[in-house]
This record gives sequence, C-alpha cells and structure tokens, in this order.
Amino acid sequence: MEGKADLHMHTTHSDGVYSTTDLVRMANEAGLTIISITDHDNVTAVDEAIEIGKRYGIDVIPGVELSAGVGEKEVHILAYFFDHKNQDLLDHLTFFRIERVKRAERIVEKLNGLNIPLKLDTVLERAGTGSVGRPHIATALYEQGLTDSYNEAFYKYIGYGKPAYERKYQVSPQAAIELISSAGGLSFIAHPGNSIDEAVLLEFINEGVDGIEVIHPSHSPERVMHYSGIVNEYFLLASGGSDFHGGRRNDQDLLGKYYISLDHVQEMRRRLS
Ligand code: AMP
Ligand code: ZN
Ligand code: FE
Ligand code: FE
Repeated sequence: MEGKADLHMHTTHSDGVYSTTDLVRMANEAGLTIISITDHDNVTAVDEAIEIGKRYGIDVIPGVELSAGVGEKEVHILAYFFDHKNQDLLDHLTFFRIERVKRAERIVEKLNGLNIPLKLDTVLERAGTGSVGRPHIATALYEQGLTDSYNEAFYKYIGYGKPAYERKYQVSPQAAIELISSAGGLSFIAHPGNSIDEAVLLEFINEGVDGIEVIHPSHSPERVMHYSGIVNEYFLLASGGSDFHGGRRNDQDLLGKYYISLDHVQEMRRRLS
C-alpha cells in the first residue's frame, strides 16, 4: 500500500504550537494520509482531528503519549486505537494533567528560590486548556527575558538534573500498558533511542507492550535497524513518526520525513482484531 503514516505529533492541547486544524492541514500538505495526534496526557484534539481529517481524506487514529517511571528514568509510552471516550482512561488523563499543574508549580517555586521571578500564571496562560509541560515554562522564561533562549531554560534550569528540575507524576509501565489495553488500545515504547537501555526494553516487552516506536527523528539509521530487529525477534509491532511540536524547536521540516508505511498500520489493525 502506498502512503505515509505519521503516528507522533503534538498540538496546543499539550506542548505543541499549532492548533488541531493547522496541524491536520500541514500534515496533508506534507503528504501524510494517516496520522495520530499524540498529545501528552490529553485526547481532546482527537474528535476535532478526525472531523478535519475527513476534509483531506486523512485517516486520524486516536493517540496519546503517557509518561511512565522506571527507577529514576522517565519512559514515554505511545498509545493508539483505544476508545478515546473510555471513562477510566479519561479519568486517569485528567489526574495526570492535574499532577502536571502541581509539578509546574513546584518548578516555579524552585525558580523563584533561584531568584528567577517567573509567575505560575504566566506559565499556565501559555498552556491554556492543554496539558502543561516544561516547554511552556521554557517559553515563558524566554519571553519574560529571564533566559536568553528557549534552550537555555533547559540547560540552565529545568532540564533533567538541573536546579529547577522536577519529576512529574509517573505511572509504572505495567499500569500504563494495562490502562491502554483496558481501553482497547495498543501501547508502544516511544523513542527508546533517547534513554532506554536494553534491560528496560525487555521489561516492557515482558509487561506486554505491543510495539516499539522504531522511526523517530532521534534515531540514527543504525538504531532503526536495531529496533526493527527487536520488533521481529519478539513479534512486536513497529510504529513511528516525527514527534512534531512546531515553534522554537525548528522541527517544521520533519513532517512528511519521519513516517511508517500504511502496511505497518494495517498490521496494528490486524493485531487488534
Ligand atoms: P515535560 O513533558 O513537561 O517533561 O516536557 C518534556 C518536553 O520538553 C519534551 O517534549 C522535550 O522535547 C522537551 N525537553 C526536554 N528536555 C529538553 C532539553 N534539554 N532541551 C530542549 N527541550 C527539552
Ligand atoms: Zn511534547
Ligand atoms: Fe516523548
Ligand atoms: Fe512526543
């Protein structure tokens, strides 16, 4: 089957810069025919995306990106094809988003303790009704003239291990996988090349994860080969996408470049039935 599927992108419903409408239009312009919007801890973009997708003949798969904790590390889990009206899932997502606000508050307190006069309201304004994340804090810091750049906010203050870093609430991989599968969905280990060692990968496989995000901008061709091998070895599914957020990340040209074939999506559907 001809066509490109990008199953990883973010809108203003989390830390992306573009609205759902704009993102679906951009996906169409980039030649994508299947997409999944995977906002962090939020599925409020899904219905709108499905509607707008119809205008362009783009198939929109319900998606979300969760954060799980493995020891000190944070591992992202992508979920697809779940019932995005599932009440238990929605309740969990609401809880995760509230925890994100509390964590933003802790980060702002730490920043204030470092004599950086950032206000929580300024951060929450940036996030609007979407889930708040560190990119909103970095943007607020930069726009208030409290850092010289967006990236400086991370390497000076809020990046992992920096003085204003705070963990967010993290479920166990097991709980996340269970939550998704109860809602009828498939779960994937997101961008493992960023931080995940082989032992953690195997732990996820043992917990019943359905697949691995093989294609991601952070993965070298060697990594892609490596994860494809693991997918085949353990009879898993392969996913992939651009992780497009827009804005200061200069990732505009990633849309249409990081994708999986429609056959891969077909295989996911087969696994569901
Ligand atoms: P959060 O979900 O609030 O932990 O925010 C995570 C987001 O912040 C991710 O989408 C990352 O792309 C971004 N991020 C994390 N660390 C850095 C960093 N050192 N520099 C730039 N962006 C980062
Ligand atoms: Zn993000
Ligand atoms: Fe992620
Ligand atoms: Fe992402």
